[in-house]
Amino acid sequence: MNIIACMAKNRVIGKNGKMPWHIKEDLKYFKEKTMYKTIIMGRKTFESLPGLLPNRKHIILSRKPFDSEYPQIEVTNLEEIKKNIKAYEDDFIIGGGEIYEKMLPYAKKLYITLVNIELEGDTYFPKINYDEWNLTKERESNNEQYNYKFLVYERKNL
Ligand code: NDP
Repeated sequence: MNIIACMAKNRVIGKNGKMPWHIKEDLKYFKEKTMYKTIIMGRKTFESLPGLLPNRKHIILSRKPFDSEYPQIEVTNLEEIKKNIKAYEDDFIIGGGEIYEKMLPYAKKLYITLVNIELEGDTYFPKINYDEWNLTKERESNNEQYNYKFLVYERKNL
């Protein structure tokens, strides 16, 4: 299972239910990586989206049934995902903080966009134990506001 996230140097990923930056190139990267895959997210992340992301199956994690205007989404709980983890091998956990924290131990690959800033937020990516991961790709980029790196980590076979 893959995890994809964009975080600041101090691991901030969100503030007031939103991402604290707008990086077009990162959104494009996210789109490329997740296209035609299943994307799995917490209910709060789903509510932060402007709508369904085209050409991707959405699985929303919630402990309570909720009304959605989109009948095509699947609502389940994390325990069900963990039970069938093999079925989601090529799919993506896309957030947010609570779900990253719970699913990091199950991930095999991390796609991290690391934004070279420290900022205030209320949601964090969990601490990564880098001893467990090999950095397999690294590409630097920037826009007029931020410098950032696209990093790919693969779990070591320990
Ligand atoms: P999440 O998106 O992680 O959603 C949390 C919800 O997930 C819970 O309230 C609960 O929903 C559900 N949930 C948690 N555990 C379980 C379980 N075991 N089984 C079923 N459902 C479960 O919330 P966060 O607040 O942590 O993250 C949202 C923030 O993260 C926003 O600011 C968003 O913009 C940001 N974000 C940033 C990203 C980035 O890459 N920078 C990517 C994605 C999000 P319920 O209450 O309905 O039961």
